[in-house]
Amino acid sequence: MSDIRWAWAEIDLDAIAHNVGVLRERVAPAAVWAVVKADGYGHGAFDVARTAIAAGAEGLCVALVQEGIELRRAGIDAPILVLTEQPIDAAPHIVAHRLTPTVYRRPFLDALVAEGPVGLPVHLMVDTGMQRVGVHPHSAAAVAASIAQRAPALRLAGVYTHFAVADEDHPDSVDFTDGQLAKLGRVLEQLPAVPLVHAANSAAALARPDARLSMVRAGIAIYGVSPGPGVDHLCDDLRPAMEVKARISFVKQVRSGSRISYGLRHRFDRDTTVATIPIGYADGVPRRLHAVGGAVLIGGRRCPIVGAVTMDQLMVDCGDHDVRVGDDVTLIGSQNAPDGSTIRIGAEEWAALLDTIGYEIVCGISSRVPRVPRRSIDH
Ligand SMILES: *Cc1c(COP(=O)(O)O)cnc(C)c1O
Repeated sequence: MSDIRWAWAEIDLDAIAHNVGVLRERVAPAAVWAVVKADGYGHGAFDVARTAIAAGAEGLCVALVQEGIELRRAGIDAPILVLTEQPIDAAPHIVAHRLTPTVYRRPFLDALVAEGPVGLPVHLMVDTGMQRVGVHPHSAAAVAASIAQRAPALRLAGVYTHFAVADEDHPDSVDFTDGQLAKLGRVLEQLPAVPLVHAANSAAALARPDARLSMVRAGIAIYGVSPGPGVDHLCDDLRPAMEVKARISFVKQVRSGSRISYGLRHRFDRDTTVATIPIGYADGVPRRLHAVGGAVLIGGRRCPIVGAVTMDQLMVDCGDHDVRVGDDVTLIGSQNAPDGSTIRIGAEEWAALLDTIGYEIVCGISSRVPRVPRRSIDH
């Protein structure tokens, strides 16, 4: 735990290594590249990157040049793919730090060439239906030819696309993913052989053997969080890597009929014991969690959050349980219940309550919450 703050996030690096191993086995002979953008989905990009590479990931993916530079400065030597084309002014940094750029526009190709690289690997991204970024399939061959014209400065090392609904098992979604893969296939027919062809995010890596191609870009799965309810059943052997924990900072008895927290939104219908937990929405516990059935674990029991979550603190109803200042609280993670079973609140539970996805929950645990990495094996 953290000495000076009674709220922290434990990062289980053994779980990261385990999850990378599970994915490698599932997708072989495709390679696993670990997606460590957004500070490793809130888990700590450097620790995750180092652990994933040691566990056999062949490369890393980031969203921003800055994220790639931080990994290089920390001594990470593995290939680092930047997942979207970057501002022209980022070109010098990409070349200087040996990052692998995603490309789809000619001005960006020229900006890279102007830095004088030799054999800089680039990956061409094709938009097959997500409609976020990437070259249109009709123009892919022309942009690939532009890359070839810029040899030996640039080298087309990869071609890829990104799925919009790979986490959904509805037949329409499966059809849509089929269509995206078919479009990628038609683009590839027009190109010379490319070393790396990829499409799968975590959901597709788990659910779509036909999308694994030469490598998968796995983010959320390496953190042990399900990409979505449609693929929950494929995540049973993954282990969640983040636990959010705290200690009780204050305990009091409240009277039936009294109300609590900003707006006095919760009214007690019996006398009860309330514990205050020193973590709030500035730490990434959504303010609304109280209104949708959010709870924490104390002593192996679920204690509902009562009243609005405040910026730095929240309150929970402990009923007639004996709780004290300093007692362990688990917000995300598991505890042993009094009957010996394991009781768990996952990021997926918060996501379901708040109508979002586990990604937003783990990424939302803010930098104010100290990360405590744990490893038992030497990764
Ligand atoms: C974030 C991202 C991924 C990783 O997705 P997960 O669902 O977390 O596995 C893969 N590819 C691209 C292009 C991304 O932006």
